[in-house]
Amino acid sequence: FATLYIVPTPIGNLDDISARAIEVLKQVNWIAAEDTRHSSRLLQHFSISTRTLSLHDHNEDKRTAMLVQRLKDGESVALISDAGTPLISDPGFVFVRRCREEGIPVTALPGPCAAITALSASGLPTDRFIFEGFLPVKTQAKDNQLAELKERTCTSVFYEAPRRILATVKDIDRVLGDRHIVVAKELSKTFETYVSGTPSDVIDYLEAEAAHQKGEFVVMVSPAQVNLSEISAEAMSLLTTLCDHMP
Ligand code: SAM
Repeated sequence: FATLYIVPTPIGNLDDISARAIEVLKQVNWIAAEDTRHSSRLLQHFSISTRTLSLHDHNEDKRTAMLVQRLKDGESVALISDAGTPLISDPGFVFVRRCREEGIPVTALPGPCAAITALSASGLPTDRFIFEGFLPVKTQAKDNQLAELKERTCTSVFYEAPRRILATVKDIDRVLGDRHIVVAKELSKTFETYVSGTPSDVIDYLEAEAAHQKGEFVVMVSPAQVNLSEISAEAMSLLTTLCDHMP
């Protein structure tokens, strides 16, 4: 069997593509792209003339069957999405799972991902975090998901579309109140910006100028503060005993 390569592409700055990504995209028999027209600009820029075909949410089942057969016939495939790492809030899961089931080799190249890029520069704790992708659009489902953050003791990372960024930060304000949040905008692009503070600080920024709500956003919410008075007496006594036995 030939190999399926998962190839991340830039999230803004074209120079962020890796030398290995260019090499793989040149060498494979096929590039499966989320949107072939969108990706043709990137491929042209790097003089990559490999044949492309589309693989998106609406044809993934059909394409998977066809591409799995090609891989079995010895033709290698690179999977790319419009930007960043394929499968991370992007298509490809059905395809990769099928390849794994069929024993087809799958290898992923490390590369750009908006969530990881934003988190690493956010100043929020990075030791434990949850990536939530996009929040649901419907109010009740969105509120339920945000309510889970009330007790969550690690950083939460979301993607958000420009048309919903203001509403989402207002929802965070309503559901979580004064939690510290960081919004990262236009990462690796000319107008890259990090805004941090309470949700109402971020709302002030977003409402200050129409341009502030344009672009691409990653929203990060700090962990809930553990309130010592809420720790049960039993847990507290256990903690005290444990501390007494520490060297
Ligand atoms: N697969 C991509 C990745 O690895 O980051 C994410 C694809 S998802 C469909 C697109 C979302 O990612 C955008 O709506 C935005 O929330 C986030 N995003 C992508 N590029 C970004 C950038 N340059 N700056 C900030 N957020 C970005």
